Amino acid sequence: MSWDARQRAMLAEMGFRLPAAAAVAAEAEVVELAEPEPQAPVAVVPPPAIVRVAAPVMLAAPAAPSGFAGLDLPALREAVSACRGCGLCEQRRHAVFGNGALQQVQWLVVTDPPDEADDASGQALGGQPSGDAGRLLDRMLLAAGQRRGGDAASAFVTPIVKCRPPRGRAPQPAELQACEAVLAAQVELLQPRLVLALGLQAARRLTGLTEPLGRLRGRVHRWRDLPVVVSFHPAYLLRSPADKAGAWDDLCLARRTLQAS
Ligand code: SF4
Repeated sequence: MSWDARQRAMLAEMGFRLPAAAAVAAEAEVVELAEPEPQAPVAVVPPPAIVRVAAPVMLAAPAAPSGFAGLDLPALREAVSACRGCGLCEQRRHAVFGNGALQQVQWLVVTDPPDEADDASGQALGGQPSGDAGRLLDRMLLAAGQRRGGDAASAFVTPIVKCRPPRGRAPQPAELQACEAVLAAQVELLQPRLVLALGLQAARRLTGLTEPLGRLRGRVHRWRDLPVVVSFHPAYLLRSPADKAGAWDDLCLARRTLQAS
């Protein structure tokens, strides 16, 4: 159970400080990251002690992935780029399939719909000016022991709908329902062990609840038999850095949930 200097630096870049006194007090509940190299033990502020599992919610049945069933990941990406499964195809520049590990993942990170930069680049939180949010997300994932790039990639990041709604409006229920077929196919191929929902629209769709984001955080929901943890979208965290500590609590909850499963 330890944190190395690089992980501490990443937490600092997230805006999460590790006060010395709190670190000592937290020593009994140090969180361990899956890092290959030996590390000096360093304590962190403990996450909430209790993992509360919300009662399963009754969701509308996911759209049948009939149009995407049986495809491998490259073929699914290609199919999504040409998808006309809902009206959002009309004004998109690029469908945003997502990026990350190309085989079984630990975390599937489902974000709010693509922004203008994502629509232009076709990359999930990868284009400019959303690059800052993408970099913050990558640092958050790294600090939690997950990566969406490189040989050791263990996470995949994808939006809740793959095409940007016009003028950034919220996706409509029929659009969410249509695109859930794509998400279902991604789950079938990537076999994640946990879903991290970032942003209000992703969180509400995956939990089936309409509560404010703050009330969806801090507990474990379920979607398609997978545990779902809710947190802030990294673009929001750039505007509201005071909430980065709360985001860190959410990542710790996700880590504990995965370890307990
Ligand atoms: S939002 Fe999803 S279902 Fe709608 S056109 Fe894009 S990829 Fe297809």
